[in-house]
Amino acid sequence: MQRFQLYIDGAFTDGSGSFDSIDPATGQPWAVMSEARTADVNRAVDAAHRAFRSREWAGLTASARGKLLYKLADLVQAAAPKLAAIETRDTGKIIRETSAQIAYVAEYYRYYAGMADKIEGAHLPIDKPDMEVWLRREPIGVVAAIVPWNSQLFLSAVKLGPALAAGCTVVLKASEDGPAPMLEFARLVQEAGFPPGVVNIITGFGSECGAVLTAHPKVSHVAFTGGPETARHVVRASAENLASTSLELGGKSPFIVFEDADLDSAVNAQVSGIFAATGQSCVAGSRLLIQRSVKDAFLAKLKAKAEAIRIAAPDDMTTEVGPLCTQRQRDRIDTLVAASTASGAVLVTGGQVPEGQGFYYPPTILDCSDVPDAPALSNEFFGPVLSVVAFDTEEQALDLANDTAFGLASGVFTRSLTRAHRMIRGIRAGVVWVNTYRAVSPIAPFGGHGLSGHGREGGLAAALDYTTVKTVWLRTSDDPIPDPFIMR
Ligand code: NDP
Repeated sequence: MQRFQLYIDGAFTDGSGSFDSIDPATGQPWAVMSEARTADVNRAVDAAHRAFRSREWAGLTASARGKLLYKLADLVQAAAPKLAAIETRDTGKIIRETSAQIAYVAEYYRYYAGMADKIEGAHLPIDKPDMEVWLRREPIGVVAAIVPWNSQLFLSAVKLGPALAAGCTVVLKASEDGPAPMLEFARLVQEAGFPPGVVNIITGFGSECGAVLTAHPKVSHVAFTGGPETARHVVRASAENLASTSLELGGKSPFIVFEDADLDSAVNAQVSGIFAATGQSCVAGSRLLIQRSVKDAFLAKLKAKAEAIRIAAPDDMTTEVGPLCTQRQRDRIDTLVAASTASGAVLVTGGQVPEGQGFYYPPTILDCSDVPDAPALSNEFFGPVLSVVAFDTEEQALDLANDTAFGLASGVFTRSLTRAHRMIRGIRAGVVWVNTYRAVSPIAPFGGHGLSGHGREGGLAAALDYTTVKTVWLRTSDDPIPDPFIMR
C-alpha cells in the first residue's frame, strides 16, 4: 500500500496515528495515511505562527509572494495528470472530472498570484489639520482551512490562493476521506519554495484534528467548507479564540425550467447539474422545478438521458458516473430515498443499490410534485438524486425556489428576458445561473446565505477576507502637543 505523510514546517513527517484510505471503486484499503492528532495539530499551528512573523515570509514583498504563487500554479498544471489519478483513486471522483478540474485549479493560483500586489490600502482625507491618516491592509494571521472530501484540490485553492496572496500562513486540514491528493499537493508547495511553516497540510479526524485546529488560540481565521452541522461545531470552537469564519456549506439548489425554455439545453444542464461529480457537489441543482405544461416531455427526456449514463470504474475515461466517496455516504442516500418514497414520492428511475463491489448508486429521479413534505425536498443528498416539483405560475416557481433553509445556487431556464430579470431579483441564493449551470471562475465570487454559510470565495473580496485594516495616524506638526485633556 502507498503511504502518505503530513506536511508540517516544510518537511514531510509522520503523525501520531495512521489510518487506511479506502478505494471507493473496490471498497478495499489502498493507502495508509498519517493521522494528525492533537500534538501534530499543535506542531502545525506553531509552525504557521512562527512563519507568519518570520523575515522569510513577513519580509517578502507582495510581488515576491505573487511569484511563489505563479510557480505553484505552474507546478499544479504540470502535475495535474498525477494529482487527478490520485484524487480519482482516493475519492472515486471520475478521471474525466478530476483531470479537467485540476488543470483549472492552476488558474485559481494564477489569479491570486496576480492579486498579491494589488491588495491596496487607502489614504483618508481626514477632517483634521496637521494629520496624515492612511489604512494598511495587513494579513489577518494564521488561517485554519478545512475542506470536505469532494474536490479537495479545488476547495483548498480557493482558500490557499487568497490567504497566501494576502500574506497569511495556513494549516490546511484535508478530509479523512480521500486526503491523498492534498498530501501529494504538499510536494508542490515544497518545490515552489514557500518558506517552512507558511503552508502546512495535515489530515485526521474531525472530532480531534478538526476540533483542536479550529479552537487553537493562535488561529485568527477559519475558512471552512463542509456541512451545516459541522459548521456549528466550527463556529462554537472558533468562538474560543474569537477567530473570524467563512463558511461554504451545502445547498438544496432550485433548477427552474419554464415552458418557453430550450428544453434540450435545459435537460443537458440538469443532467450535469445533478449527476456530475456523482451528485457530490455543493451546487448540485437537486430540486427541479418544472412548469407543469412541459413536465411530462421534460421528464421523459431526462429519464432517457439518466438511464443512458455510463456507470463504471472512475479511472476509465469513458465513465460518466462513478462511485460515491464512502459507504457511509451511499447508505445515507439510500435511506433518504427510501424515506422519500415511503412518504409518497414517485421513483421515476434509479433508487436501487447495485450488486457488486464499490460504493455505486445509480442516477435517481424522484417526483415529489404531490408530496411537499417529502424528505427529498428539504435534505441535501450530496449524491446523484434529483427531486422534481411541478409549478403552474412564475409566482409559484419563486415561492418554491425560496422554500429552503439553504441559499447557495440556483438556475433559471427561460427565453424571456423580463422573466429572467424578475427571477434574478427574487431568488434568495448566492449564485443565479440563467440558461446555464455550474459555471465557475476564480474571477467570480462564490458563496451563499442561510444554511449555505457566509463569506465569499473567488474574486477580490475573498482576498480582503484574509486581511485586517490597520489605521495609521501621523501628526505632521512640529508644535508641542497642547491641552492633554482634549481628544484630537
Ligand atoms: P463535513 O462537514 O462532515 O466535513 C467537512 C470537513 O470538516 C472535513 O474535513 C471534516 O473532517 C471536518 N470536520 C468534521 N468534524 C469537525 C469538527 N468538529 N471540527 C472541525 N472540522 C471538522 O462535510 P462532508 O465531508 O459531509 O462534506 C459534504 C458537505 O460539504 C456538504 O454539505 C456539501 O454541500 C458541502 N460542500 C460545500 C461546498 C461549498 O463551496 N459551499 C463545496 C463542497 C462541499 P473529517 O472528514 O475527518 O470528518
